[in-house]
Amino acid sequence: DDILKGDDEPVPPPPPPPPPPTVKDIKISSMDQVRKSLPVYKYREEFLDAISKNQVLIVVGETGSGKTTQLPQYLHEAGYSTSKDGLNRKLIIGCTQPRRVAATSVANRVASEMDVKLGHEVGYTIRFDDNSGDDTVIKYLTDGMLLREFLNDPTLSKYGALMIDEAHERTLSTEILLSLLKDIIKTRSDLKLIIASATINAEKFSKYFNGASILNIPGRRFPVTIHYTSNPEANYIQAAITTIFQIHLTQPLPGDILVFLTGQEEIESMEESLQESIMKLGTSLPNQLQICSIYANLPPDMQQKIFEPTPPNSRKVILATNIAETSITIDGISYVIDPGYVKQNVYNPVQAMESLVVVPCSRASVDQRAGRAGRVGPGKCFRLFTKWSYYNELELNATPEILRVNLSSIILLLLSLGVNDLIHFDFMDPPSHQSIIKSLELLYSLGALNSKGQLTKLGRQMNEFPIDPMLSKCVLTSKKYECTNEVITIISMLGESSTLFYRPKDKQDQANRRHEKFYHELGDHFTLLNIWNEWVDTDFSSQWCQDNYVQYKTLRRVKNVKDQLTKLCKRSGINLNKKSDSFNPLYIQKSIIAGYFPNVVKLSMMGDSYRKLKSTDGQPCHIHPSSSIHSLKPPPKLLLYHELVLTSKEYMRNCLLVDEKLVKEFSSHYYSLKDLNQISKTNK
Ligand code: ADP
Ligand code: MG
Repeated sequence: DDILKGDDEPVPPPPPPPPPPTVKDIKISSMDQVRKSLPVYKYREEFLDAISKNQVLIVVGETGSGKTTQLPQYLHEAGYSTSKDGLNRKLIIGCTQPRRVAATSVANRVASEMDVKLGHEVGYTIRFDDNSGDDTVIKYLTDGMLLREFLNDPTLSKYGALMIDEAHERTLSTEILLSLLKDIIKTRSDLKLIIASATINAEKFSKYFNGASILNIPGRRFPVTIHYTSNPEANYIQAAITTIFQIHLTQPLPGDILVFLTGQEEIESMEESLQESIMKLGTSLPNQLQICSIYANLPPDMQQKIFEPTPPNSRKVILATNIAETSITIDGISYVIDPGYVKQNVYNPVQAMESLVVVPCSRASVDQRAGRAGRVGPGKCFRLFTKWSYYNELELNATPEILRVNLSSIILLLLSLGVNDLIHFDFMDPPSHQSIIKSLELLYSLGALNSKGQLTKLGRQMNEFPIDPMLSKCVLTSKKYECTNEVITIISMLGESSTLFYRPKDKQDQANRRHEKFYHELGDHFTLLNIWNEWVDTDFSSQWCQDNYVQYKTLRRVKNVKDQLTKLCKRSGINLNKKSDSFNPLYIQKSIIAGYFPNVVKLSMMGDSYRKLKSTDGQPCHIHPSSSIHSLKPPPKLLLYHELVLTSKEYMRNCLLVDEKLVKEFSSHYYSLKDLNQISKTNK
């Protein structure tokens, strides 16, 4: 019966075969595997368990174990991005980074791991660039930007969890964040705080947070053999280049090379020399050498290049700043070349001078660098200094930033947050009283504080701008002289000026002649303004940049910074004047000196160097060779500088001419009569 019935019925069609996996499915499942293969994955449950039981957790783990990319995702998956007060409010999981590039690059990575568009569920915020939105639940941001968020939201109410990453770096902003967070977690019992650090210093953080628990995440680590040079290297750049070729010619593939350099300029010039050598060697090289670089100002689209897999039969050479020490992990490195230097901002409170200096790294730091060679297999690290120097000359640990930089920005911020008693503030490592007092003096002379040390209206307005108080003073002064448009252009250009010009090796003279056309007799501030104005007149043309040997990418960044500053001005009620072709240089000089009077220098009697007006025993300074007034004859008697860079000499980068009248008008409150009278003497 049944059988007959069955025969009558049409045979049901076989179920359709499952659809072939789409590109998206494949992407997600392989991404999933990559995520699960990271050392941190084995500790997922332990981590979530610890954070559910503790408000503060210190996570210590080898670089590359997955802390930065994974822990915020685990927190999101475990529901920390939704409020538990019954209202189901959306909360943000924030993760701070000391470096801009790390914040953008990691956000990019996590967005693709979660298969979402960057700027939506996963976003980042760095100064002058906010790529986050209302739907953002995981946000990477610089420590400095989170610090500024306290101004508008003192309890950080938008956040459900915060990870303060790279705490071992001890940057100024990270340390102040930790102090402020230690205070607010008392009232925000729902806020979870994770302090993540590479393997050094964990105990110190735990102690500071009243014995907070520590979770250790061991990473993969293969042995790394260390090689030293037998004699100190006179020219480490040349030594590094030689080492690169030696490795490439004698060591097997695959195995990429990571070179630690001090900054963009050094990286660019080394890249050029390397490309030249590669061209010369041509086909005599057995395998290809691919050069790529990573440093703070590298545009995001170029950053991704270092993560692309190395093609077969070639070797990648990555030229990096110490950003690759712990903030960014590049897979596939087997060789590290380490000259042992790093660029730092160093402030001398006695002379009130801050300058960029290249200094030897600490031992902790060079050890960390060496470790980068041992992630995929046994590796080698070539130190371009002697073993003796490692044991006898390098400091054990780097000095925390708070003990060596100018504190005026951070003090202005703390005062705005109502922290008035700086001497008793709960710093991890308190800065010297002298450096606090010097910063207070500077803020007072800028008019940000009154004689009782209280914040003035001007001081509050200065804080609206995420820039140095000396710069925000210039902006606020420009309002009176109706030249804000020009002044914020100059400020935006100053920040990017070191990468503005380029000179191809074969066309140096031609490039120099083009650059000289922009020179202004009053100095670099006006030269920068000239460049900007001409570029604007071409409607932001890239062809114009090429013709004039100016970096188009740099000018695009300047434009972005200027747009952000324009918005901030409008918010502070400063209307921008229309761009006028006949700007009055005097007004611009006045606006700049109103903030930069502490950087006025006068020509020495001998006429070969400059000294600060105030300090009799101050360092002699020289006009930077890149300055438009470098070869001015006779040399200007008085000028002010934007920043100091210490190389073979103390160089002043970006100089503006001023005269005695201007100095007297804007800084009689700062200099003594004796200092000011010195000017007239020189001028005779
Ligand atoms: P940690 O914070 O513990 O040092 P990360 O979470 O930064 O580790 O890195 C985990 C892994 O993610 C590393 O293998 C790294 O190479 C990879 N990764 C991080 N950022 C990117 C990126 N932008 N592109 C590709 N891979 C990345
Ligand atoms: Mg990390």
